[in-house]
Amino acid sequence: MHTTEYKFSQKTVTCYFDADFNLIAELVKDAQVVIVTDENILDLHAEKFTGFPVIKFPAGEEHKNQATVDNIIAELIKLEANKNTFLIGVGGGVVTDITGYVAAVYMRGIKFGLVPTSILAMVDAAIGGKNGIDVGVYKNMVGTIRQPEFIFFDYAFLETLPVKEWVNGFAEVIKHACIKDELLFKVLEKYSLHEYQVDKTLIAELIEKNVEIKTTVVINDEFEKGERKLLNFGHTVGHAIENLHAIPHGHAVSIGMVAACNLSVQLNNFHADDAAKIVRLLARYHLPVDVETDHARVFEVLKMDKKRQGDGMQFILLNKIGKAEIKYISLTELEKHFKEIV
Ligand code: ADP
Ligand code: ZN
Repeated sequence: MHTTEYKFSQKTVTCYFDADFNLIAELVKDAQVVIVTDENILDLHAEKFTGFPVIKFPAGEEHKNQATVDNIIAELIKLEANKNTFLIGVGGGVVTDITGYVAAVYMRGIKFGLVPTSILAMVDAAIGGKNGIDVGVYKNMVGTIRQPEFIFFDYAFLETLPVKEWVNGFAEVIKHACIKDELLFKVLEKYSLHEYQVDKTLIAELIEKNVEIKTTVVINDEFEKGERKLLNFGHTVGHAIENLHAIPHGHAVSIGMVAACNLSVQLNNFHADDAAKIVRLLARYHLPVDVETDHARVFEVLKMDKKRQGDGMQFILLNKIGKAEIKYISLTELEKHFKEIV
């Protein structure tokens, strides 16, 4: 195990890499620990939680809502949780988001730590302090930005992660490479998903690199005024497609990244050969690069995006692999290109 400390505006977050969940009790000695997790993780890893009170909820994005938060709060009250209680969220992005949110509001805020167990949560969801819940069809509509005390990486959890969740997580890994790190892009071109699944050293290095990329972006712009927006690469079109097609987030983001690449070729002098390289890399990691869709409907949803500003919206485009920028694009221009990019 080794640690890295990351300084955010209000808190220093300790990342424990290559760690063993059994050591977690040591970290929170004096507090009353309560574990929050989903039923999948609890079934698969029950032995790890022996001795801790556990609050569980059913797995899946459809449970990332206020009703689940209410249930967790009711359980916390039953456990007589107080200001000295330390919540530990163990799971994928749904668990880490909900845990951070409950910790932010219970008794006006208690301490929490995160143990991400999916690739997506390790490289993305657990990092940066964003938490919250969905409201009906509106994703992440309610929430706060509040950093955990620690993020704890125990790669043993990945042994039970279904392959489709590996694929899902690699969409965000490839996103990080596209917007920030050409070298990482080249590394990804060299290996395969299978190699990452079987080689502990390889996956450990990859996760640490991605934590560093995301954390650096977030620390530079914790409250999303500029640079943090780069992390939305592929997510504008991606979210619209996710809304209409009920496909996994990573799949939608992959298709969204292809669209953003094509738009970058047309509007930002991004090289067509580099766009083709990105498409090949996504396919190499079993991600879809196109979708049969109703363009008019996708465009309708896109127009309603949070990033809409007046007659246009901010889009994340690439200049080259490893370098992205925010560009304001008018809806008229976007509509003109839309059929060819998706
Ligand atoms: P995310 O993709 O944001 O991490 P979820 O929290 O919904 O989203 O996790 C995706 C699915 O993977 C859920 O069904 C969750 O229970 C499951 N999962 C997460 N981590 C593991 C793991 N280590 N082993 C088995 N299943 C896992
Ligand atoms: Zn994402």
